[in-house]
Amino acid sequence: MATSVNQVIKETIQAIKERGLVLTPDNYAEVFCETAKKNGVIVPDCQKLEKYVGRLNDEFKAQLKQKNVKSVDELFAFMASRLNSPSLVEYPKLIAALCAMSKKVLQAAAALHNKSARKLAEASIEALNRRTDAQTADRIKDKWFDFLTDYDDSFLKRLNDYGIKKTDDLAEMVAELDGAIRSAGSAGACEEFVSLLTATLEPSITDKIIGDIDRITKNLKDEPRLLESLKFRNDIKNLTKKRIELDKAEISSKIAALDKVLEGIDGRILRLIDSSKDGSDKMGFIRRDLGLINLSKDSFEGIRDKMLGIADMLDGEIRQLGEQMMSDQLTIKELQEKISALETQLEDAKAQSREDFLTKTATRKAFVEELERFENEYLKNGLDYCVCFFDIDHFKKINDAYGHDAGDTVIASVAKTLLKASRKEDIVSRYGGEEFVVLLPGLSLEQSVEFAGRVRTTLKNSKFLYKEERISVTISCGAAVRSAYQSSAAALEASDKMLYEAKQNGRDQVMPKI
Ligand code: GH3
Ligand code: MG
Ligand code: MG
Repeated sequence: MATSVNQVIKETIQAIKERGLVLTPDNYAEVFCETAKKNGVIVPDCQKLEKYVGRLNDEFKAQLKQKNVKSVDELFAFMASRLNSPSLVEYPKLIAALCAMSKKVLQAAAALHNKSARKLAEASIEALNRRTDAQTADRIKDKWFDFLTDYDDSFLKRLNDYGIKKTDDLAEMVAELDGAIRSAGSAGACEEFVSLLTATLEPSITDKIIGDIDRITKNLKDEPRLLESLKFRNDIKNLTKKRIELDKAEISSKIAALDKVLEGIDGRILRLIDSSKDGSDKMGFIRRDLGLINLSKDSFEGIRDKMLGIADMLDGEIRQLGEQMMSDQLTIKELQEKISALETQLEDAKAQSREDFLTKTATRKAFVEELERFENEYLKNGLDYCVCFFDIDHFKKINDAYGHDAGDTVIASVAKTLLKASRKEDIVSRYGGEEFVVLLPGLSLEQSVEFAGRVRTTLKNSKFLYKEERISVTISCGAAVRSAYQSSAAALEASDKMLYEAKQNGRDQVMPKI
């Protein structure tokens, strides 16, 4: 059976009386809803708590459950306490402060000396100025996250080379770097620059400023910081100017000297050109080019080119001359061949000749023939003959003391004495250089020795005149008679043997002694 709302009201007032409660609107509402629920009567006013709680988020729902909130009043009490909590009051202020702080931090980041950080910071500030919401803040945060991820400061390690180890402060780093560069400048770098500078000063043509360069070098080596002084730098400038002027003067005087040398060469070449009988066109060009050279005016390059031109032409001329000489040499060779052929012919003629050219006595060839004739006469008719072998004493000494021509004169004079002492039928022959053999037909050995003795005495007593020099000569002789031997050859050999003995006995004598 359904209970009416009136029934619920009656029961509610009854319950309040029984419980001794004061009939306040709140107490009434509480007991009413309790009674309605018990009786299964649905009253929308009693559903308010569930209605409001249902709209809250899970976190609030859990908190309300925990606090055992049963009525709308308790719900309001809970909400009021929440709304009054200090954190909820401070929250918007905090967000505003954080936002302002972020902007300041970003301004600081923009002031740091990093190009991409500055750009990003400026863009972030602009974005925040345009709109401050969670999404924008999140986007900016992501960008900074990317920046931090990409940021690489390993380039700072390069500062290690300058002795800078601490890299956490830009100002400190700059100060340290400055110090390092300054100290390097004063010691190492300055010294290196000093040696470089003096090296550029030194290779000078003139030697007149060696003292100045030495002085500057020494000063700089002792005190490289002098380079920083304006006066010193001016000194170097002036020295360089002086050096250039002196070098120019030096070059001019060297050119003048070269000009003199060239003049000499020029003269000699011109004389050479003049002396070459059929001076060619090229020689004419060389002469002209030599005349064109003027060292005091021409540049080195110009002189060089002209000299090269002359050298080329001389080269060509010399080659031509060489070719001419080659052909001349061929002619000379041909002539030499002709001469030697003639000499051979002359030798042959001499060999055929019967009279010696120098002494007008019989040649060896003629002697051999005469000996053969004497021998035939001896063998056929028994006509005996003697052989006298003569050899001038110490003839080498005569040659050495007075010369070969004097020696020849002596040989010719001895021959004359022999021819004068001999008879018509005798044969006087130049057997060798200063050796004579005389064939004496019909004479005995004694008579032959006597003949040889006369020749020896005559020669000993005469002095030969050669270019106002009086030369004394002695001669030795060996004699043999044919009939005492087996053959003409044996007789000739015997006379030679006798001659040898005469030499052995002390020369200037005739063997055998009779
Ligand atoms: P020795 O008393 O032992 O004969 O002494 P030597 O110096 O005469 O010796 P030898 O007879 O061996 O030397 C002969 C020299 O005569 C050698 C050579 O130089 C020289 N002679 C040979 N033929 C000629 C010639 O035609 N003219 C000249 N001037 N000297 C010649
Ligand atoms: Mg001799
Ligand atoms: Mg001799």
